[in-house]
Amino acid sequence: QAQIQGLKKQFGKNEILKGVDMTVHHGEVICIIGPSGSGKTTFLRCLNLLERPDAGRYVLGSESYLLHRIGSKQRREIALKTAMVFQSYELFQHMTVLQNVMEGLVTPRQFSKKDAKQIALTMLEKVGLSDKASMYPVQLSGGQQQRVGIARAMALSPELLLFDEPTSALDPELVGDVLKVMRQLADTGQTMIIVTHEMQFAYEVADKVIFMADGVVVEAGTPEEVFRQSKEDRTKKFLSQIN
Ligand code: ATP
Repeated sequence: QAQIQGLKKQFGKNEILKGVDMTVHHGEVICIIGPSGSGKTTFLRCLNLLERPDAGRYVLGSESYLLHRIGSKQRREIALKTAMVFQSYELFQHMTVLQNVMEGLVTPRQFSKKDAKQIALTMLEKVGLSDKASMYPVQLSGGQQQRVGIARAMALSPELLLFDEPTSALDPELVGDVLKVMRQLADTGQTMIIVTHEMQFAYEVADKVIFMADGVVVEAGTPEEVFRQSKEDRTKKFLSQIN
């Protein structure tokens, strides 16, 4: 499980996250929705310390961190407990699919090559890409590349798996396969936070939906509560604009 309290982040004078609170229980799926520029990506990047938060408290698994006082040891710990799936896949272009999935196990986590390969092949099978193991990313469709990105993240067995708009760079006909893999992963009890514009997916898969705007959580609740019975005007306005 993870608990975030009062997370703040500014870039220069620009305050992007203004004190975000969120709790995700073990095995839960949270979907974050909200307008462009509201800080959703920045929030996810703070959770695995790709961005350095300015303030806040972060409980991840059995450890608690004060985010304004993160040293290299804590940064490493958090990095090892989280994994991220990126909007634009971020695969290593000079590595094969198999090497991409093995990489995070071999270098930072010191698995033997043999064990890493075994795990990577299992993950590629789960995302339906066993036959692509020796190919390079450029030889794959966007949807296949993103499934490699998901296999790579799954291989790390993270306590918290983060998805940053994983389907928004894909051609519409490729979105379904990626969402299917994410749905299967949710069914295994993986704890996940997903930033998404796929409202139907969020409605069906999320345990909790969070509407973020202007660097704060405006509304949070079950999919039913947020999508069908939203209390906040800003949520209603956002949902009416996208439908
Ligand atoms: P979208 O849905 O469009 O991806 P978002 O809700 O994910 O939007 P962010 O990408 O987190 O929003 O961006 C929030 C704000 O932070 C934007 O105004 C952006 O310009 C700013 N921002 C993000 N990263 C940086 C950075 N490294 N330096 C300066 N400003 C940044």
